[in-house]
Amino acid sequence: MKKNYINWREFLEEYPPYVFYFIREPFREENGKLFFDIASVNSFCDDSSCGKSTVYRVLSSEGVSTDKLAYRNLQFECTECRTRRKTIGIRYDQRSYSSIDNNEIRVMKLFELPPFYNPISEKIRNILGSKSDLYLKGRSSELSNMGLAAFEYYRKIYNIIRTSICEDRYKSFVHKFDVLLNLRSEQSTDEELLRIANEMHMILKVIVDK
Ligand SMILES: [Zn+2]
Repeated sequence: MKKNYINWREFLEEYPPYVFYFIREPFREENGKLFFDIASVNSFCDDSSCGKSTVYRVLSSEGVSTDKLAYRNLQFECTECRTRRKTIGIRYDQRSYSSIDNNEIRVMKLFELPPFYNPISEKIRNILGSKSDLYLKGRSSELSNMGLAAFEYYRKIYNIIRTSICEDRYKSFVHKFDVLLNLRSEQSTDEELLRIANEMHMILKVIVDK
């Protein structure tokens, strides 16, 4: 299988649990010690003084284990209120890591506290109402490489919002989305549907995302 490398920060901020991803250059070396090469992540802070998406800085990124299979909790703290913390538990596998020059791992998210994902944005809630979770399910399926599921969630969202996005500036998006929906056939593979779902998300992002 072809390795799809993703960015550390995007992995921590957005990717779903229980799926392995490949990260290139996950570590940096300093005075002979290995550190996770991650400084901060953006996440929602629900502290009463914040109540918005803020930057969380990593509290400690040192102590990378040299075991073949290792577990680690990464701790972050909101840089604005300095009260709220976020912990992301990861499992990583260093079979592909041999030295700082061959710096690559396979990593899986095991848990995240507060729980996975930022709260649904206000705009999505306004448009999708009680169906807002379709957006998160669609995105989560897409990021887990589940093409058919992602396609179906995005199609459902589109059917819900189609009538409410009659504004002229969305016309070209509506057209593009219709074209994408028509690309699906009985023979479509999950991989093809995933590529279509990626494009569907790009369009939905413009319409329903912040
Ligand atoms: Zn905060």
